Amino acid sequence: MSSPDSQDRVSEIQIYLVDLSQDEPYLGALREGEAVNEAGYFVRKGNRTVYPRKNRSLVVKIVTRDGVTGWGETYGLVAPLATAAIISDLLTGFVVGRDPNEVEAIHDDLYDLMRVRGYTGGFYLDALAAIDIALWDVVGKIQNLPLYEILGSPRRSLIPAYVSGLPRPTLAGRLELAREWQSLGFNAFKFALPVADEGALAELSALRLTLGDDARIAVDLHWSLTEDAAVQLAADLQPFDPWFLEAPVPTEEIGTLRRVVQRTAACIAVGEEWRTHFDARLRLERLACHIVQPEMGHTGITQFLRIARLAETYRISVIPHATIGSGIFLAASLHAGAVLTEVESHEFQHSIFGAFRHFTGDALRCEAGAYSLPDGPGLGVEPSDAMLARMTRMLP
Ligand code: MG
Repeated sequence: MSSPDSQDRVSEIQIYLVDLSQDEPYLGALREGEAVNEAGYFVRKGNRTVYPRKNRSLVVKIVTRDGVTGWGETYGLVAPLATAAIISDLLTGFVVGRDPNEVEAIHDDLYDLMRVRGYTGGFYLDALAAIDIALWDVVGKIQNLPLYEILGSPRRSLIPAYVSGLPRPTLAGRLELAREWQSLGFNAFKFALPVADEGALAELSALRLTLGDDARIAVDLHWSLTEDAAVQLAADLQPFDPWFLEAPVPTEEIGTLRRVVQRTAACIAVGEEWRTHFDARLRLERLACHIVQPEMGHTGITQFLRIARLAETYRISVIPHATIGSGIFLAASLHAGAVLTEVESHEFQHSIFGAFRHFTGDALRCEAGAYSLPDGPGLGVEPSDAMLARMTRMLP
Protein backbone atom coordinates (compact mmCIF):
# COMPACT_ATOMS: atom_id res chain seq x y z
CA MET A 1 0.00 0.00 0.00
CA SER A 2 1.37 3.41 -0.92
CA SER A 3 1.98 6.06 1.71
CA PRO A 4 -0.30 9.10 1.73
CA ASP A 5 2.52 11.25 0.41
CA SER A 6 2.76 9.20 -2.75
CA GLN A 7 -0.91 9.80 -3.56
CA ASP A 8 -1.69 12.09 -6.42
CA ARG A 9 -3.28 15.42 -5.45
CA VAL A 10 -5.59 17.92 -7.13
CA SER A 11 -3.49 20.86 -8.31
CA GLU A 12 -5.89 23.05 -10.32
CA ILE A 13 -9.53 23.60 -11.26
CA GLN A 14 -10.30 25.43 -14.49
CA ILE A 15 -13.82 26.63 -15.34
CA TYR A 16 -15.22 27.06 -18.85
CA LEU A 17 -18.45 28.29 -20.39
CA VAL A 18 -19.39 26.22 -23.45
CA ASP A 19 -21.42 27.86 -26.18
CA LEU A 20 -24.08 25.31 -27.25
CA SER A 21 -26.10 27.79 -29.28
CA GLN A 22 -28.38 26.32 -31.88
CA ASP A 23 -30.79 27.70 -34.45
CA GLU A 24 -33.78 27.22 -32.18
CA PRO A 25 -34.14 27.59 -28.42
CA TYR A 26 -34.88 24.54 -26.28
CA LEU A 27 -38.47 23.24 -26.67
CA GLY A 28 -38.69 24.90 -30.10
CA ALA A 29 -39.46 28.32 -31.54
CA LEU A 30 -40.81 31.07 -29.31
CA ARG A 31 -44.59 31.12 -28.94
CA GLU A 32 -46.76 34.22 -29.25
CA GLY A 33 -46.06 36.62 -26.42
CA GLU A 34 -42.62 35.15 -25.64
CA ALA A 35 -39.73 37.55 -26.25
CA VAL A 36 -35.99 37.54 -25.53
CA ASN A 37 -34.91 40.33 -23.16
CA GLU A 38 -31.70 42.36 -23.25
CA ALA A 39 -29.86 39.85 -21.09
CA GLY A 40 -30.70 37.08 -23.58
CA TYR A 41 -33.42 35.35 -21.54
CA PHE A 42 -37.07 34.59 -22.24
CA VAL A 43 -39.86 33.03 -20.22
CA ARG A 44 -41.96 30.14 -21.50
CA LYS A 45 -45.55 31.16 -20.83
CA GLY A 46 -46.61 27.55 -20.35
CA ASN A 47 -44.38 26.92 -17.33
CA ARG A 48 -43.24 30.45 -16.28
CA THR A 49 -39.64 29.24 -16.47
CA VAL A 50 -36.70 31.27 -17.73
CA TYR A 51 -34.54 29.95 -20.58
CA PRO A 52 -31.56 31.47 -22.38
CA ARG A 53 -31.89 32.21 -26.07
CA LYS A 54 -28.53 30.54 -26.56
CA ASN A 55 -27.92 27.23 -24.80
CA ARG A 56 -24.72 26.97 -22.85
CA SER A 57 -23.11 24.78 -20.24
CA LEU A 58 -20.53 25.08 -17.47
CA VAL A 59 -17.58 22.72 -17.66
CA VAL A 60 -14.73 22.24 -15.19
CA LYS A 61 -11.36 20.67 -15.80
CA ILE A 62 -9.49 19.27 -12.81
CA VAL A 63 -5.76 18.68 -13.20
CA THR A 64 -3.68 16.70 -10.74
CA ARG A 65 -0.02 17.09 -9.81
CA ASP A 66 0.75 13.97 -11.85
CA GLY A 67 -0.98 15.52 -14.85
CA VAL A 68 -4.20 13.48 -14.81
CA THR A 69 -7.11 15.50 -16.24
CA GLY A 70 -10.78 15.07 -15.29
CA TRP A 71 -13.81 16.74 -16.83
CA GLY A 72 -17.01 17.73 -15.03
CA GLU A 73 -20.09 19.67 -16.02
CA THR A 74 -23.14 21.34 -14.53
CA TYR A 75 -25.94 23.65 -15.58
CA GLY A 76 -24.74 26.84 -17.25
CA LEU A 77 -28.08 27.85 -18.72
CA VAL A 78 -28.86 30.68 -16.31
CA ALA A 79 -26.41 32.99 -14.49
CA PRO A 80 -23.39 30.74 -15.10
CA LEU A 81 -21.11 33.29 -13.43
CA ALA A 82 -22.78 32.49 -10.10
CA THR A 83 -21.75 28.83 -10.23
CA ALA A 84 -18.32 29.72 -11.59
CA ALA A 85 -17.76 32.14 -8.70
CA ILE A 86 -18.75 29.52 -6.12
CA ILE A 87 -16.18 27.15 -7.59
CA SER A 88 -13.44 29.73 -8.09
CA ASP A 89 -13.84 31.86 -4.98
CA LEU A 90 -14.87 29.20 -2.47
CA LEU A 91 -14.56 25.55 -3.42
CA THR A 92 -11.24 25.42 -5.27
CA GLY A 93 -9.32 26.27 -2.09
CA PHE A 94 -10.81 23.23 -0.37
CA VAL A 95 -10.25 20.79 -3.24
CA VAL A 96 -6.71 21.65 -4.33
CA GLY A 97 -4.29 19.46 -2.41
CA ARG A 98 -6.84 16.68 -1.76
CA ASP A 99 -6.42 13.11 -2.95
CA PRO A 100 -8.91 12.73 -5.83
CA ASN A 101 -9.63 9.15 -4.74
CA GLU A 102 -11.43 10.62 -1.72
CA VAL A 103 -14.13 11.93 -4.04
CA GLU A 104 -17.11 11.06 -1.83
CA ALA A 105 -15.44 12.51 1.26
CA ILE A 106 -14.60 15.67 -0.68
CA HIS A 107 -18.22 15.97 -1.74
CA ASP A 108 -19.47 15.61 1.82
CA ASP A 109 -16.85 18.01 3.20
CA LEU A 110 -17.83 20.67 0.65
CA TYR A 111 -21.53 20.12 1.40
CA ASP A 112 -20.86 20.59 5.12
CA LEU A 113 -19.16 23.96 4.55
CA MET A 114 -22.41 25.76 3.85
CA ARG A 115 -25.11 23.73 5.58
CA VAL A 116 -25.70 26.13 8.46
CA ARG A 117 -26.26 28.95 5.99
CA GLY A 118 -28.93 26.99 4.19
CA TYR A 119 -27.01 26.36 0.95
CA THR A 120 -28.31 22.83 0.55
CA GLY A 121 -29.34 23.10 -3.09
CA GLY A 122 -29.39 25.43 -6.08
CA PHE A 123 -26.26 26.90 -7.58
CA TYR A 124 -24.12 25.70 -4.64
CA LEU A 125 -24.93 22.05 -5.29
CA ASP A 126 -24.56 22.55 -9.04
CA ALA A 127 -20.98 23.65 -8.36
CA LEU A 128 -20.42 20.53 -6.25
CA ALA A 129 -21.85 18.37 -9.04
CA ALA A 130 -19.35 19.68 -11.59
CA ILE A 131 -16.43 19.05 -9.24
CA ASP A 132 -17.72 15.61 -8.27
CA ILE A 133 -18.01 14.44 -11.88
CA ALA A 134 -14.52 15.73 -12.70
CA LEU A 135 -13.03 13.97 -9.65
CA TRP A 136 -14.70 10.68 -10.60
CA ASP A 137 -13.28 11.10 -14.11
CA VAL A 138 -9.82 11.50 -12.55
CA VAL A 139 -10.38 8.36 -10.42
CA GLY A 140 -11.31 6.37 -13.53
CA LYS A 141 -8.28 7.59 -15.40
CA ILE A 142 -5.94 6.78 -12.50
CA GLN A 143 -7.33 3.23 -12.46
CA ASN A 144 -7.47 3.15 -16.26
CA LEU A 145 -11.02 1.80 -16.11
CA PRO A 146 -14.35 3.11 -17.40
CA LEU A 147 -16.44 4.50 -14.55
CA TYR A 148 -19.10 1.82 -14.89
CA GLU A 149 -16.43 -0.66 -13.72
CA ILE A 150 -15.67 1.45 -10.64
CA LEU A 151 -19.06 2.75 -9.46
CA GLY A 152 -20.47 -0.73 -8.86
CA SER A 153 -21.13 -3.88 -10.83
CA PRO A 154 -22.05 -3.05 -14.41
CA ARG A 155 -25.39 -4.69 -15.21
CA ARG A 156 -25.95 -3.60 -18.79
CA SER A 157 -24.08 -2.38 -21.82
CA LEU A 158 -27.12 -0.69 -23.38
CA ILE A 159 -29.49 1.72 -21.67
CA PRO A 160 -32.95 2.13 -23.24
CA ALA A 161 -33.64 5.71 -24.31
CA TYR A 162 -36.81 7.73 -24.70
CA VAL A 163 -37.15 10.56 -27.19
CA SER A 164 -37.73 13.73 -25.19
CA GLY A 165 -39.58 16.70 -26.61
CA LEU A 166 -40.93 17.16 -30.09
CA PRO A 167 -39.84 20.72 -30.92
CA ARG A 168 -42.03 21.50 -33.90
CA PRO A 169 -44.49 24.39 -34.01
CA THR A 170 -47.58 22.38 -35.05
CA LEU A 171 -49.14 19.15 -33.81
CA ALA A 172 -48.89 17.70 -37.31
CA GLY A 173 -45.18 18.47 -37.33
CA ARG A 174 -44.71 16.92 -33.89
CA LEU A 175 -46.49 13.74 -34.99
CA GLU A 176 -44.26 13.56 -38.05
CA LEU A 177 -41.14 13.99 -35.93
CA ALA A 178 -42.28 11.26 -33.53
CA ARG A 179 -42.90 8.93 -36.46
CA GLU A 180 -39.41 9.64 -37.81
CA TRP A 181 -37.86 8.59 -34.51
CA GLN A 182 -40.07 5.53 -34.34
CA SER A 183 -38.82 4.48 -37.76
CA LEU A 184 -35.28 4.71 -36.33
CA GLY A 185 -36.08 2.16 -33.64
CA PHE A 186 -37.26 4.38 -30.77
CA ASN A 187 -40.61 3.53 -29.22
CA ALA A 188 -40.69 5.68 -26.07
CA PHE A 189 -41.47 9.39 -26.10
CA LYS A 190 -42.19 12.36 -23.86
CA PHE A 191 -43.89 15.60 -24.76
CA ALA A 192 -44.03 18.80 -22.74
CA LEU A 193 -47.32 20.46 -21.77
CA PRO A 194 -46.02 24.08 -22.19
CA VAL A 195 -45.55 23.53 -25.92
CA ALA A 196 -48.50 21.16 -26.51
CA ASP A 197 -50.57 24.00 -27.90
CA GLU A 198 -53.84 22.06 -28.20
CA GLY A 199 -53.50 20.68 -24.69
CA ALA A 200 -52.22 17.42 -23.20
CA LEU A 201 -55.28 15.36 -24.14
CA ALA A 202 -55.17 16.33 -27.83
CA GLU A 203 -51.42 15.77 -27.93
CA LEU A 204 -51.49 12.35 -26.24
CA SER A 205 -54.48 11.05 -28.18
CA ALA A 206 -52.92 12.11 -31.50
CA LEU A 207 -49.55 10.61 -30.59
CA ARG A 208 -51.22 7.37 -29.47
CA LEU A 209 -53.07 7.10 -32.77
CA THR A 210 -49.88 7.82 -34.72
CA LEU A 211 -47.46 5.66 -32.75
CA GLY A 212 -49.69 2.71 -31.87
CA ASP A 213 -50.56 0.86 -28.67
CA ASP A 214 -47.05 -0.41 -27.97
CA ALA A 215 -45.39 3.01 -27.84
CA ARG A 216 -44.64 4.49 -24.43
CA ILE A 217 -45.72 8.12 -24.26
CA ALA A 218 -45.02 10.26 -21.21
CA VAL A 219 -46.26 13.77 -20.46
CA ASP A 220 -44.13 16.43 -18.76
CA LEU A 221 -46.47 18.74 -16.82
CA HIS A 222 -43.72 21.13 -15.67
CA TRP A 223 -45.05 21.57 -12.11
CA SER A 224 -47.98 23.55 -13.50
CA LEU A 225 -51.15 22.02 -12.02
CA THR A 226 -53.15 22.09 -8.82
CA GLU A 227 -53.98 18.82 -7.07
CA ASP A 228 -57.50 18.65 -8.50
CA ALA A 229 -56.38 19.65 -11.99
CA ALA A 230 -53.69 16.97 -11.94
CA VAL A 231 -56.18 14.31 -10.81
CA GLN A 232 -58.66 15.36 -13.50
CA LEU A 233 -56.03 15.43 -16.24
CA ALA A 234 -54.76 12.00 -15.20
CA ALA A 235 -58.31 10.65 -15.52
CA ASP A 236 -58.78 12.31 -18.92
CA LEU A 237 -55.50 10.89 -20.23
CA GLN A 238 -56.01 7.36 -18.87
CA PRO A 239 -57.84 5.98 -21.94
CA PHE A 240 -54.75 6.84 -23.99
CA ASP A 241 -52.45 4.95 -21.64
CA PRO A 242 -49.80 7.52 -20.68
CA TRP A 243 -46.48 5.98 -19.61
CA PHE A 244 -45.96 8.50 -16.79
CA LEU A 245 -46.99 12.00 -15.82
CA GLU A 246 -43.98 14.10 -14.88
CA ALA A 247 -43.87 16.88 -12.30
CA PRO A 248 -47.63 17.48 -12.00
CA VAL A 249 -47.57 19.99 -9.11
CA PRO A 250 -45.09 22.57 -7.73
CA THR A 251 -41.99 20.98 -6.25
CA GLU A 252 -42.48 22.62 -2.86
CA GLU A 253 -45.88 20.93 -2.40
CA ILE A 254 -44.84 17.46 -1.28
CA GLY A 255 -48.15 16.79 0.46
CA THR A 256 -50.00 17.74 -2.71
CA LEU A 257 -47.77 15.43 -4.75
CA ARG A 258 -48.53 12.57 -2.39
CA ARG A 259 -52.27 13.17 -2.67
CA VAL A 260 -52.03 13.18 -6.47
CA VAL A 261 -50.29 9.80 -6.27
CA GLN A 262 -53.00 8.49 -3.94
CA ARG A 263 -55.92 9.84 -5.98
CA THR A 264 -54.88 8.70 -9.48
CA ALA A 265 -54.05 5.46 -11.22
CA ALA A 266 -51.37 7.24 -13.25
CA CYS A 267 -47.66 6.69 -12.77
CA ILE A 268 -46.09 9.87 -11.36
CA ALA A 269 -42.45 10.82 -12.04
CA VAL A 270 -40.46 13.57 -10.32
CA GLY A 271 -36.93 14.51 -9.36
CA GLU A 272 -35.11 16.39 -12.11
CA GLU A 273 -34.70 19.44 -9.86
CA TRP A 274 -33.38 17.55 -6.82
CA ARG A 275 -29.75 17.93 -5.82
CA THR A 276 -29.31 15.41 -3.03
CA HIS A 277 -30.64 12.26 -1.41
CA PHE A 278 -32.07 14.54 1.26
CA ASP A 279 -34.40 16.02 -1.39
CA ALA A 280 -35.25 12.50 -2.50
CA ARG A 281 -35.92 11.21 1.00
CA LEU A 282 -38.55 13.88 1.66
CA ARG A 283 -40.62 12.46 -1.21
CA LEU A 284 -39.68 8.80 -1.12
CA GLU A 285 -40.44 8.19 2.54
CA ARG A 286 -43.90 9.62 1.84
CA LEU A 287 -44.23 7.38 -1.25
CA ALA A 288 -45.06 10.54 -3.19
CA CYS A 289 -43.98 9.22 -6.62
CA HIS A 290 -43.55 6.05 -8.67
CA ILE A 291 -40.47 7.06 -10.67
CA VAL A 292 -37.47 9.22 -9.75
CA GLN A 293 -35.57 11.14 -12.39
CA PRO A 294 -32.16 12.18 -11.06
CA GLU A 295 -30.40 14.78 -13.20
CA MET A 296 -26.65 14.28 -13.29
CA GLY A 297 -26.01 17.95 -14.07
CA HIS A 298 -27.49 18.85 -10.67
CA THR A 299 -26.45 15.85 -8.57
CA GLY A 300 -23.01 14.79 -9.69
CA ILE A 301 -22.23 11.08 -9.58
CA THR A 302 -22.06 10.77 -5.78
CA GLN A 303 -25.54 12.16 -5.15
CA PHE A 304 -27.03 10.57 -8.27
CA LEU A 305 -26.11 7.15 -6.92
CA ARG A 306 -27.34 7.96 -3.41
CA ILE A 307 -30.70 9.08 -4.80
CA ALA A 308 -30.98 6.05 -7.05
CA ARG A 309 -29.99 3.59 -4.32
CA LEU A 310 -32.52 5.15 -1.96
CA ALA A 311 -35.19 4.77 -4.65
CA GLU A 312 -34.22 1.12 -5.02
CA THR A 313 -34.89 0.51 -1.34
CA TYR A 314 -38.47 1.66 -1.92
CA ARG A 315 -38.67 -0.30 -5.20
CA ILE A 316 -39.26 2.98 -7.00
CA SER A 317 -38.07 3.07 -10.63
CA VAL A 318 -35.18 5.25 -11.77
CA ILE A 319 -35.42 6.94 -15.16
CA PRO A 320 -32.56 9.45 -15.34
CA HIS A 321 -33.27 12.94 -16.59
CA ALA A 322 -30.97 14.48 -19.22
CA THR A 323 -30.80 18.20 -19.67
CA ILE A 324 -28.93 20.52 -22.02
CA GLY A 325 -25.18 19.99 -21.84
CA SER A 326 -22.08 19.26 -23.86
CA GLY A 327 -22.25 15.50 -23.28
CA ILE A 328 -19.99 15.28 -20.23
CA PHE A 329 -22.70 14.89 -17.60
CA LEU A 330 -24.69 12.74 -19.99
CA ALA A 331 -21.73 10.35 -20.10
CA ALA A 332 -21.59 10.39 -16.29
CA SER A 333 -25.32 9.60 -16.15
CA LEU A 334 -24.87 6.59 -18.43
CA HIS A 335 -21.99 5.20 -16.36
CA ALA A 336 -24.00 5.60 -13.14
CA GLY A 337 -27.11 4.17 -14.81
CA ALA A 338 -25.16 1.09 -15.85
CA VAL A 339 -24.58 -0.01 -12.24
CA LEU A 340 -28.13 0.42 -10.93
CA THR A 341 -30.24 -2.66 -10.36
CA GLU A 342 -32.73 -1.51 -12.95
CA VAL A 343 -32.93 1.40 -15.34
CA GLU A 344 -36.13 1.23 -17.27
CA SER A 345 -35.17 4.07 -19.58
CA HIS A 346 -33.03 7.22 -19.83
CA GLU A 347 -34.02 10.56 -21.30
CA PHE A 348 -32.67 11.27 -24.80
CA GLN A 349 -32.49 14.94 -25.74
CA HIS A 350 -32.44 14.26 -29.44
CA SER A 351 -32.77 17.93 -30.36
CA ILE A 352 -29.37 18.68 -28.85
CA PHE A 353 -27.74 15.24 -29.10
CA GLY A 354 -26.28 16.25 -32.46
CA ALA A 355 -24.32 18.85 -30.52
CA PHE A 356 -23.24 16.23 -27.94
CA ARG A 357 -21.77 14.11 -30.70
CA HIS A 358 -20.23 17.14 -32.29
CA PHE A 359 -18.55 17.92 -28.99
CA THR A 360 -17.52 14.53 -27.75
CA GLY A 361 -17.12 12.56 -30.97
CA ASP A 362 -18.35 9.01 -31.39
CA ALA A 363 -17.94 8.07 -27.73
CA LEU A 364 -21.62 8.88 -27.10
CA ARG A 365 -24.04 6.88 -29.17
CA CYS A 366 -27.81 6.54 -28.99
CA GLU A 367 -29.13 4.33 -31.74
CA ALA A 368 -32.11 2.02 -32.31
CA GLY A 369 -33.70 3.01 -29.03
CA ALA A 370 -30.73 2.68 -26.69
CA TYR A 371 -27.57 4.38 -25.51
CA SER A 372 -24.34 2.45 -25.54
CA LEU A 373 -21.79 3.11 -22.81
CA PRO A 374 -18.66 5.14 -23.49
CA ASP A 375 -15.85 2.72 -22.77
CA GLY A 376 -12.65 4.73 -22.45
CA PRO A 377 -11.12 5.31 -18.99
CA GLY A 378 -13.12 7.52 -16.61
CA LEU A 379 -16.08 9.10 -18.36
CA GLY A 380 -14.74 7.98 -21.71
CA VAL A 381 -15.47 11.34 -23.31
CA GLU A 382 -13.10 14.22 -23.98
CA PRO A 383 -13.82 17.62 -25.48
CA SER A 384 -13.35 17.55 -29.23
CA ASP A 385 -11.55 20.33 -31.11
CA ALA A 386 -15.00 21.70 -31.97
CA MET A 387 -15.89 21.87 -28.28
CA LEU A 388 -12.55 23.41 -27.32
CA ALA A 389 -13.22 26.14 -29.88
CA ARG A 390 -16.51 26.92 -28.11
CA MET A 391 -15.08 26.93 -24.58
CA THR A 392 -14.31 30.25 -22.89
CA ARG A 393 -12.26 30.27 -19.69
CA MET A 394 -14.12 31.87 -16.77
CA LEU A 395 -12.60 33.45 -13.68
CA PRO A 396 -9.10 32.64 -12.41
MG1 MG B 1 -39.11 17.67 -17.00
